[in-house]
Amino acid sequence: MAGLMGSYNRKLDYVRISITDRCNYRCRYCMPEDGIACLGHDEILSYEEILELCRLLLGMGVRKVRITGGEPMVRKGLIGFLKRLVAELPSLHVALTTNGSFLLSTAEELSGIRLSGLNVSLDSMDPEKFRFLTRLGSLEDVLEGIRAVRSKSGIPIKINTVLIRGFNDGDVPALLSFAKSCGAVLRLIEFMPLDDSVWSRDRFISADEILENLPERENWVPEISGRRDPNHGVPEGPARYLVNARTGQRLGIIAAVSHHFCETCNRLRVTASGELRSCLFSNEGVSLREALREGDLETVRKLILAEAEKKPKCWKDAAASSQHMSQIGG
Ligand code: SAM
Repeated sequence: MAGLMGSYNRKLDYVRISITDRCNYRCRYCMPEDGIACLGHDEILSYEEILELCRLLLGMGVRKVRITGGEPMVRKGLIGFLKRLVAELPSLHVALTTNGSFLLSTAEELSGIRLSGLNVSLDSMDPEKFRFLTRLGSLEDVLEGIRAVRSKSGIPIKINTVLIRGFNDGDVPALLSFAKSCGAVLRLIEFMPLDDSVWSRDRFISADEILENLPERENWVPEISGRRDPNHGVPEGPARYLVNARTGQRLGIIAAVSHHFCETCNRLRVTASGELRSCLFSNEGVSLREALREGDLETVRKLILAEAEKKPKCWKDAAASSQHMSQIGG
């Protein structure tokens, strides 16, 4: 099967699905302090509708979905939904992205679900800095949560850190050391210009600079491609991976801005309200909600195909998004 093809001959086999636009954090680089106007209960897709959408996407060639938000774990019923998703669509890879604040209380149940990956956002190893950055979070809860999942399951864990000059650029050694201690892979991410009220060139650190400033710089070497794929053939995403020749530790660097990966971008996004977007930076999308609610899956399929065709060649060609990451689905 050719699968779902987007414009410029890109195979789209990965969909990030936001299940809520709400979040229990107010990360300074992601959301204003007062939060954002949230969608009403009726405006967001029900779990049933998301399940139906995933079934359709799988039939169209999508191999992996990532459940995200907002903070997906603030939505009631998430665990039950994930259980159903993996049970009903066993060939679909299902991953979860979270800020980690609820992992401790859910580790037992999560560990029993066949997730293909768990990404936890963690921007500092300093409790005060963590609190400052998230405005509401507790570092200890996140660290304990990650350790709890690790001790109960073999779910591959990635720790995602957005590096921001003057905020957390000094935290890389401690983050590397924590990731190593719990068998997780750290990924350092360039700060993306999604929201002009917080993004500034002065705060941006390029992937090249991140690399140059790594502790033990000389020991980090590009990972040799062709190594055994821990993800069972599902693309690992846009990170360039390095391996520490002395310790064997892996590290990912995501150069979303400086060396963008639009040419090989295989993703689509669905917002919590059921809008399909072909690019993170695009303000335009198409609503799948009405057709999904009417059970008109043929129309949903056509809308997906049409949106895939509209995927911009490069994020710079997209109509600039004025939304925060939490609204689009990070
Ligand atoms: N609440 C979940 C979490 O914290 O992972 C999922 C949603 S959150 C919006 C997803 C990711 O987007 C987080 O890792 C966050 O750091 C990242 N993010 C938000 N704004 C960003 C920006 N301007 N540049 C790069 N990453 C950003």
